[in-house]
Amino acid sequence: MSIAQALEQIKVNIAAAQERSPYAAPQVKLLAVSKTKPLEMIREAWSAGQRCFGENRVQELLPKQEALPEAEWHLIGHLQTNKVKYIIGKTALIHSLDSLTLAAEIEKRSAAADCLSHCLVQVNIAEEDSKSGLLVPELADFMCAMADYPHIRICGLMTIGPNVDNAEEIRPVFAQLRKLFLREQQRNLPYTDLKWLSMGMSGDYEIAVEEGANIVRVGSSIFGIRHYI
Ligand SMILES: *Cc1c(COP(=O)(O)O)cnc(C)c1O
Repeated sequence: MSIAQALEQIKVNIAAAQERSPYAAPQVKLLAVSKTKPLEMIREAWSAGQRCFGENRVQELLPKQEALPEAEWHLIGHLQTNKVKYIIGKTALIHSLDSLTLAAEIEKRSAAADCLSHCLVQVNIAEEDSKSGLLVPELADFMCAMADYPHIRICGLMTIGPNVDNAEEIRPVFAQLRKLFLREQQRNLPYTDLKWLSMGMSGDYEIAVEEGANIVRVGSSIFGIRHYI
């Protein structure tokens, strides 16, 4: 399958998932996760009409963003504090805000650059040690603390589904993130603008859409499996 065909197929699958679920969002943004993949493949996706791309490492995002600045770039992987200075102003959305230390650094660098950084708060629903993200009981206070960071706009929540054999086991995780999202939306904190619910990858994006995701992050189903060197 070509990249264009894969993108088409995924859009069909997303539409079908939207059709069959009462929780599905009316619009779902497909983020093409291009990590480890060369620019030629990204350009191929761009030619097929794909506009939003996700990378999980700052070092990899920056040269790609420079080569294709017209695209919308999202940072989806864990962000180290010492990399923040390079990324400010380069992304539409940082999906991985997961600590006050990181928030303080994003605030400082965004203020210095006179820009507003749009972020999602990453939540570790399944409480996996291997994954970053806030634990569920920490979320409410974390959102309150964001009042101290005027150069950060919290735009939603993100989670990574647990590694399981049967993708259906992920459904309660996604359902829980949707409930947290609705709960936080209802608090209506003035410095938040909660509109994005980022969940679902190649193996589970249809379930995520059924559970209300309006950003899905799909890599290998578009670009093929990744080979790490
Ligand atoms: C790599 C990655 C994805 C995409 O994974 P695939 O299984 O290839 O679709 C999504 N989200 C995050 C945070 C990732 O690091």
